[in-house]
Amino acid sequence: MPTQRFPVSPKHSRNTNFQTRGKFMKVAFIGLGIMGSRMATNLAKAGHSVCVWNRTPEKSASLVSVGCVPAASLTKAVKDAQVVITMLSDPQALRDVALGQGMVDAMEWGSMWIDCSTIDPATSRQLAANATNRGLHFLDAPVSGSSGAAANAKLVFFVGGASEDIETARPLFEAMGSRIVHAGPQGSGASLKLVNNLFLAQAQAAWSEALGLAELFGLSHQTVNDAILPTHVAPAFLGFKRSKIEAREWSPEFPLKHALKDIRLALTAAKNAGMDLQQLTAAESLYAQALSRGFGDSDISAIHEIASRG
Ligand code: NAP
Repeated sequence: MPTQRFPVSPKHSRNTNFQTRGKFMKVAFIGLGIMGSRMATNLAKAGHSVCVWNRTPEKSASLVSVGCVPAASLTKAVKDAQVVITMLSDPQALRDVALGQGMVDAMEWGSMWIDCSTIDPATSRQLAANATNRGLHFLDAPVSGSSGAAANAKLVFFVGGASEDIETARPLFEAMGSRIVHAGPQGSGASLKLVNNLFLAQAQAAWSEALGLAELFGLSHQTVNDAILPTHVAPAFLGFKRSKIEAREWSPEFPLKHALKDIRLALTAAKNAGMDLQQLTAAESLYAQALSRGFGDSDISAIHEIASRG
């Protein structure tokens, strides 16, 4: 059993919340979209005390049946939490919630903030500095795996931060996922996630382009899927998208607008570091077309509607 390592401020030295050595923790979960709702559910199922907050309150209310407790406000949700987990759409939403709406200021000295949103490393490091100045522990811990992995507690966490903080948070990661990758210091989890999604977004588009060429050659989708998807050429996630593409059914697991957001974050971060990502620039244009054609809230696999048509 890992030992809790939260420091205890003189002000709160009699607050037992922050000296608990038990496995079960008092968690505030902020952001209950496709991923957050499933992650918060698994934390509650594992026995943690989970207080939830979401901008659209109906999503908090729907988690009462699984044991989560909706908070009356963001600041009330985080006030007594040992660990606050954020799972929000993008850097702007995260900054707004964390700083603009007072989440960081409302958190208890010595508590921990784990950010699981996919954002850029520079913003992640900036927010880590804000957290540290406020006396908080901070881990960036974006995830690999989509709605199915979130529902089945099979997420992989790409974590940046101190090893001892990861040990403190381990019971929470284990309730939501199957693997923890310690990528390095704060911001490294965000970096690894953008590297992951650079590949993911391009592979999804490349596969649809390949299917488009196959059609031109007179090959059926079934022939191509059966021949190539089981080989080492195809990443496993393409197999999970097969039925969606076959049925042209685009209900969102990973919304396409978030894939475009990640492409743009990677392009900007690369540009700031002096690197021109030429293939990703071409992919950005495809995903931007898909967004303008109304596929933003569809699954990433809806890039098929653009990429398979040349
Ligand atoms: P989602 O379903 O679109 O949920 C986004 C969440 O962010 C919602 O709770 C939304 O609140 C909240 N939000 C957005 N703007 C806000 C603002 N200005 N203020 C407060 N709350 C705001 O997205 P998701 O699929 O769960 O993804 C969440 C994060 O995980 C994203 O960074 C995404 O890139 C990443 N991710 C997603 C997947 C996936 O397969 N879905 C996989 C790995 C990583 P409302 O409900 O009020 O709109």
